[in-house]
Amino acid sequence: MQNFIFNERIEPKKRAVNERIKDFREIYEIYNPNEAATQADRCVQCGDPYCHNACPLHNFIPHWLKTVAEKDLEFAFKISNESSPFPEIMGRVCPQDRLCEGACTLNEGYGAITIGAIETFISEEGFKRGLRPEFEEKLSGKVAIIGSGPAGLSCATYLLRAGIEPHVFERADRAGGLMMYGIPNFKLDKKVVQRRIDWLLEAGMKLTLGVEVGKSLDFGELLENYDAVFIGIGATKPRRAGIENEEAGIMAMDFLTNVQKKIFGDPYDKEKADVKEKTVVVIGGGDTAMDCVRTSIREGAKKAICAYRRDAASMPGSRKEVKNAEEEGAEFVYNVAPTKILLDDEGKVIGVEFVKTISTTTKDGQRKLEIIKNSEFTMDADVVIFALGFENTPLEFLSKHGIETNRWGAIKVNEHYETTKPGVYAGGDCYRGAHLVVTAAYDGREAAKAIAKRLKG
Ligand code: SF4
Repeated sequence: MQNFIFNERIEPKKRAVNERIKDFREIYEIYNPNEAATQADRCVQCGDPYCHNACPLHNFIPHWLKTVAEKDLEFAFKISNESSPFPEIMGRVCPQDRLCEGACTLNEGYGAITIGAIETFISEEGFKRGLRPEFEEKLSGKVAIIGSGPAGLSCATYLLRAGIEPHVFERADRAGGLMMYGIPNFKLDKKVVQRRIDWLLEAGMKLTLGVEVGKSLDFGELLENYDAVFIGIGATKPRRAGIENEEAGIMAMDFLTNVQKKIFGDPYDKEKADVKEKTVVVIGGGDTAMDCVRTSIREGAKKAICAYRRDAASMPGSRKEVKNAEEEGAEFVYNVAPTKILLDDEGKVIGVEFVKTISTTTKDGQRKLEIIKNSEFTMDADVVIFALGFENTPLEFLSKHGIETNRWGAIKVNEHYETTKPGVYAGGDCYRGAHLVVTAAYDGREAAKAIAKRLKG
């Protein structure tokens, strides 16, 4: 270990830009065992590992780095899968530069350990060698899970490990939530998601697709028929810009979902997925905005422009994703706020009107965004996509059953992830507001532990 002086940080190889923008295949290759061992061997094994603390799942990172460096893959696989419900997915989709890698001691002058890429390697290499996640074989007790996104599937994973049968109810036609429809293939191949789902099904998870609790399925039935209920319905209401002609734009998740359905060969809404030879303006600056510009490029857009209201340094997403989007030809316009979508006489989108903004910091350190007077300008556009984040929707079945929400519509839970209705638990974006896959996975894991304790003592 500690070979950071001799071995520099080397990320996994990326496919050439002119190749990768022609398809939706993942852009990163997976390390081979020697590359992974060399990179893992750079770790200094900090006594109080900052990476472990910065990882929302508190993964045993220095431990699996050591075992990868020693080429003990079996043990690395075991400990990596213990704290994480699906490490091969986290290694691909986590914004590591804001989490584990951002906290790595070696950032100071040497370059952080490539934690995410090594995490993906451990699982993929393990699967190749026939290793599989482990679950209890005998199941007793039944828990209903509403939503099959990262929180729901994480909860199902840890219930199965505790010997409890989870029954997942999903309103879409495929399981996986955001991991199936919200994150594009070039970051997370859908076969990777389906493989995990299949293993959970093999382990005893039940799955019912195409049912919406509160509509086609009564929540009361779940309360009657199951020992506990976990709600992991995410935060799916898109945040609005509140500008003139906003309805002429497309919401990011509608765009990404319809493109993904098209890739699957399923029926999709062409109006919400057609950007071929068009100028696309994406409003927003987070990872979803990057997903939209990069998807537009792959779908043949003439131009894909990301318009963000603050400066480049303030972008909320991962730097890695911004860099990938830049490499693929996305254009960026900073410090602009939209005021209106411009339409022609037939109601067709022809552009966006913006004002320029300036970020300032007040004496007490508060950041403020000011609009520059008389700075209006227009930008040509054929398609406008809004990627401004998501809000919670307070659903009727929650209030009807005494499940309280806060003033933002997020479900209230106690320290055991239990809602104000005993026996009903919640986690992920529906309780914390729009956040990350990894934080939803953490919530699902912790809620499952609390449920297991309640059911099994
Ligand atoms: Fe890093 Fe995310 Fe993996 Fe944690 S789960 S080690 S934050 S990539």
